[in-house]
Amino acid sequence: MTTSPIPPPSAGTAPTKRTSPSTPPRALLLDLDGVLLDTRPVMEEAWREVQATHGLDMPFALYERHLGREFIDIMHRLGVGDAELVHETYEKASRSASHLARQVAGIAEVLHAFAAADWWLGVVTSKPLDRAAPLLAQLSCPFATVRTPSSVGRAKPAPDPILLALIDLGVDPSEATYVGDMAVDQESAARAGVAYVHAGWGYGQPTSPTPEIIASPQELLRLLHSVEPSEPFIEGSLV
Ligand SMILES: [Mg+2]
Repeated sequence: MTTSPIPPPSAGTAPTKRTSPSTPPRALLLDLDGVLLDTRPVMEEAWREVQATHGLDMPFALYERHLGREFIDIMHRLGVGDAELVHETYEKASRSASHLARQVAGIAEVLHAFAAADWWLGVVTSKPLDRAAPLLAQLSCPFATVRTPSSVGRAKPAPDPILLALIDLGVDPSEATYVGDMAVDQESAARAGVAYVHAGWGYGQPTSPTPEIIASPQELLRLLHSVEPSEPFIEGSLV
């Protein structure tokens, strides 16, 4: 199981929240790049290093078009040879430039409000764990799980990392929302059976069917007031 800056629940033990028996646990899962932190300056700097080191004449805009996928996946899609070597350069340059990342204004306060309302918080990203963890630490939010390609399963747009996060938390897909900013995020959520909200402040555009699009993290707070408590299923049952 992928570790996180905050110790995740023990394997095989579903965590518990202070919810009543009629209120199932809920989870807010979020992408990292473009949603929690603006890491574009980091990526641009790392891509410049890749261009210089490997003589790659490919603009950042081409790379950026595929954000959300694993780095190696993007290299294959761009037809870049020596993808592993390029990845090494990119990783090293990204670590050196990590100080350029900036948290999205207001996101930490919103996430703390969800935590205070007994929602689980989780991160599902295609960024490797060793680079994601220090960035997430900047936010000081109680993330209960972080799923990355460093773990088992397929990467986005497959549903695997979202489903694995929900297994970590003991939350049903129907009780979870994923916040992303790229079409692969939307596809991953759809394939996992999880509601999707598109962060309009991120790097990409949603695809069809048009999802809910929010302009600021504060608009996520609406979810806190949309919970319909489950009614006991006692009359009118077909069983
Ligand atoms: Mg993103």
